[in-house]
Amino acid sequence: FDQLEGFIWMNGEFVKWADAKIHVLTHGLHYASAVFEGERAYGGEIFKLTEHTERLHESARILGFTIPWSVEEIDEACRALLKKQGFTDAYVRPIAWRGSEQMGVAAQNNKINCAIAIWQWPSYFDPAQKLKGIRLDIAEYRRPDPRTAPSRAKAAGLYMICTLSKHAAEAKGYADAMMFDWRGNVAEATGANIFFVKDGAVHTPIADCFLNGITRQTVIDLARQRGLEVNERVVKPEELEGFEQCFLTGTAAEVTPVSEIGPYNFQVGEITKTLMNDYTAAVQPKQAIAAE
Ligand code: PMP
Repeated sequence: FDQLEGFIWMNGEFVKWADAKIHVLTHGLHYASAVFEGERAYGGEIFKLTEHTERLHESARILGFTIPWSVEEIDEACRALLKKQGFTDAYVRPIAWRGSEQMGVAAQNNKINCAIAIWQWPSYFDPAQKLKGIRLDIAEYRRPDPRTAPSRAKAAGLYMICTLSKHAAEAKGYADAMMFDWRGNVAEATGANIFFVKDGAVHTPIADCFLNGITRQTVIDLARQRGLEVNERVVKPEELEGFEQCFLTGTAAEVTPVSEIGPYNFQVGEITKTLMNDYTAAVQPKQAIAAE
């Protein structure tokens, strides 16, 4: 992966993919002082680019640093890199981190770095499995209390428990894991938000200790446009048994049906399929829709 072709935008310049390196004493590596984004380009346009770049800036602010490139500059760098890479449909990964000037927990004077990589990542989950619904394990780790971690930031450090949970799930043959929050309520998956369907209504946990995903917000809007009732509410573990459908949302995952969470089973039903299709339509560039 570190030897792919093409370029990476790094601190204002395009550098060859294999040359985009950092020092081993980088603060971001030792102390997780890094924030990132995940975006997708469809038909040559990055979906909700500015919202993602604004979230990147906000994540940095929450971690106490300022990215030395404006939202407009980063948006422009993402667009320029997409063109330079020659992709129309691709995954976009901006990242910002504290550099290697000073070692230790404190890093007040370390340079803030920023890089963007773009590669082709067609499907986050196995495409055949995705249509049938993926199987989720139940994670041992819980999403932390916002008083324990800056849970609204898309910060590298918050992914430690996600990688551990995803690896544990994969070792048992599951595609991913569902995480509870610190109170024991249903929270999300390791890199995507979670939704349920029952009696024609949509239910999703309140995003008060995990990322309020841009895809989550898009899908809530799409569901309401369909006239569906959407309830952002506390989802108790004992309710899992009674839900008819379940799906995940995320930039990488898009809308992915879930067939199982541990002992509980779900159908890939009409509402899930409708929202999958509506999301596919929503991410297409505006001109393409106008031309139809
Ligand atoms: N939760 C986690 C832990 C994630 O990593 C992601 C992916 N960024 C999401 C939720 C969904 O966020 P979005 O829809 O903005 O991609």
